Amino acid sequence: MTNVSKRSEDINESITLKLNAKAVALAKEGQKVYNLTAGQLPYRPPKELVEAIRGELDFLKSFQYSPVAGDGELLEKLIDYVETSRSISFEDYDHRFAATVGNGGKHVLANIFAALVNPGDEVIVFAPYWISYPQMIKLNGGVIKVVEASIYNAFEPDLEKLKELLSDKTKAIILNSPNNPSGVFYNEKWMKSFAEIIKPFENTYVISDEIYYELNYYDPRPTYFYQYDRELLSRTIIVDGISKSLASTGLRLGYCIAHEDIISAIKKIQGHTASGSCSLIQRALLRYNLNQIDEYLSPVKKHLRENSLILREVLRENQLEKCWYQVTSAFYFLMDFSSAPIIEKFKKSEDDQTDYSVQICEQLLEEKGVAMVPSGDFGLPNCARMSLVLPKDDFRDAIIALSEFLTRE
Ligand code: PLP
Repeated sequence: MTNVSKRSEDINESITLKLNAKAVALAKEGQKVYNLTAGQLPYRPPKELVEAIRGELDFLKSFQYSPVAGDGELLEKLIDYVETSRSISFEDYDHRFAATVGNGGKHVLANIFAALVNPGDEVIVFAPYWISYPQMIKLNGGVIKVVEASIYNAFEPDLEKLKELLSDKTKAIILNSPNNPSGVFYNEKWMKSFAEIIKPFENTYVISDEIYYELNYYDPRPTYFYQYDRELLSRTIIVDGISKSLASTGLRLGYCIAHEDIISAIKKIQGHTASGSCSLIQRALLRYNLNQIDEYLSPVKKHLRENSLILREVLRENQLEKCWYQVTSAFYFLMDFSSAPIIEKFKKSEDDQTDYSVQICEQLLEEKGVAMVPSGDFGLPNCARMSLVLPKDDFRDAIIALSEFLTRE
């Protein structure tokens, strides 16, 4: 038997890949498959960005190592962008803020957890959560504490539960608003209460994963707790990147802004594990006006709005209102099977609490050709994530097929 580390054995493999492989195999066999598993926008990136990459001919700067934290000019630009877009200022604190760039938001987050979490430290995570957070916390020996949410409150985490879990042992809270997989952002009232609750816990950091910030397709824009209490910004690590907002998952560029000491710690880790991230894309980004993101995303948002309306309409036509909630951002919807008739076919008894999401998704794919991501990896049972990015007609057909499956007697 191969003698791999205990740490690597503790990491879960994702079920998504298995289901995706099955979806691809079925499509190859000629079956019509509606693949709703996408974690990226199927659009062209902005032409200005593509042109900037094409025009990048400074071989020393764009083809050789970049500084570990990233190109200095780009870091300043990113700080300016976050200040303007979030209406905040990093000035006039008793310490400096700094930024660092990594190979995608995922790399930046992995660095942050490595820089903050000691074995035994508690990290609070809100379910449904992005699948990689618990694995990253485990890799660093952290203890995961989960605050759950359900469809009954449109997947907004329960702040009373947060109060119960917060203690002197809480090293960090990871917040992801707009949220993958629910497609909602936590509203102003929630953010204000969150700010009040965490205020006394002065040694607790908040990692604010804002990778979907730009992708709200209904008003208002997402807001954040640190906008209501300046002091809280000094213990916040803001994470963003271009994967989602510029449809550029393959270019691998994410960044974070935080207290300069945290950035120094990240720099040390990244310096020995990855070096600076891709120079070419950093140089090209210098020539891209980040304030154009909104304009670039305008047709994308229109498409997402239209598909969200189709979703509501088809679910209503099939008496599946209980499964519906208003999505507003990112490009996902979390289907709650426990509110649909299909769950009765799986449950062994009235109070059976087993998670059947994998079996339900497998059957849905086999029978109707609809591929979704089961929710076990998101920390909630009996749900599945769908992306809203398919072309309108295909999306409608997919939701009709899904509804037939969900309502089958
Ligand atoms: N955070 C969340 C919530 C995500 O959904 C993703 C990607 O799916 C990431 C971070 C990482 O994005 P990337 O590494 O592609 O920049």
